[in-house]
Amino acid sequence: MNRLAGKVALVTGAGRGIGAAIARAFAAEGAAVVLAELDGATAVATAREIANGCEGARTLAVQTDVTQSASLRAAVEEAQRAFGPVDVLVNNAGINVFADPLTMTDDDWRRCFAVDLDGVWNGCRAVLPGMVERRAGSIINIASTHAFQIIPGCFPYPVAKHGVIGLTRALGIEYAPKNVRVNAIAPGYIETQLTHDWWNAQPDPEAARKATLELPPMKRIGRPEEVAMTAVFLASDEAPFINASCITIDGGRTALHHE
Ligand code: NDP
Repeated sequence: MNRLAGKVALVTGAGRGIGAAIARAFAAEGAAVVLAELDGATAVATAREIANGCEGARTLAVQTDVTQSASLRAAVEEAQRAFGPVDVLVNNAGINVFADPLTMTDDDWRRCFAVDLDGVWNGCRAVLPGMVERRAGSIINIASTHAFQIIPGCFPYPVAKHGVIGLTRALGIEYAPKNVRVNAIAPGYIETQLTHDWWNAQPDPEAARKATLELPPMKRIGRPEEVAMTAVFLASDEAPFINASCITIDGGRTALHHE
């Protein structure tokens, strides 16, 4: 408890899934949390649920579209008005865009990059001036194991996630002298709506689900809370020398050559 006491955190895409788990864990550790989410009603419902479930929790829901830099700037300003300057940013909002490269539409390409890469940059750009001025801050970008390995048929999502790692490393180096840390988390399969949507889009959803559970050496997929606890660590003062780095959470799957 209280590993994030006194900190103000903004989490994008915090209405559900991994983002909601991070917001919940941050609040439980004493941070004031701003849930910046595309769907305003979901943001309000999740912020309320966190506040009700955690005594003393301070949460604020702000309707935010990460594809719009002005929307993220406004969310950061709103956070500052409510709780003070943002100490921790989690760029979590992301979407799956899986297509065949040659038949994919221009709109699919743009949609993927607008959320999965521009969205991360827009978040960084909105908080960096304040963090640099205060010479303190932690930015956590939610990448994916798709940032290192390619699954056929998933284009262009991994291209954007490779970019998230590049952005993390570049900004981590750029702002290290200002004591602003920029790190990434690369989850493997985590059980969220995103994963259920993907299973349901397959010709045999149950077979797809079973095949996914067989992939990791631990023979299960991850839970949003397991990603959240790593975000707590990176956000906290327990990780002051971890910068421009990425922590993989996949039960060992990326290290496995083959069985
Ligand atoms: P979900 O789809 O469950 O949640 C994503 C959240 O992001 C939703 O609340 C969604 O809102 C929000 N969002 C989408 N677009 C925007 C936008 N333009 N502005 C603000 N918020 C937006 O996904 P997960 O929780 O599974 O994924 C979270 C992150 O983790 C993503 O970056 C994803 O790529 C990454 N990841 C997930 C893995 C998994 O297996 N689940 C594995 C590896 C990485 P709305 O519902 O209103 O659209």
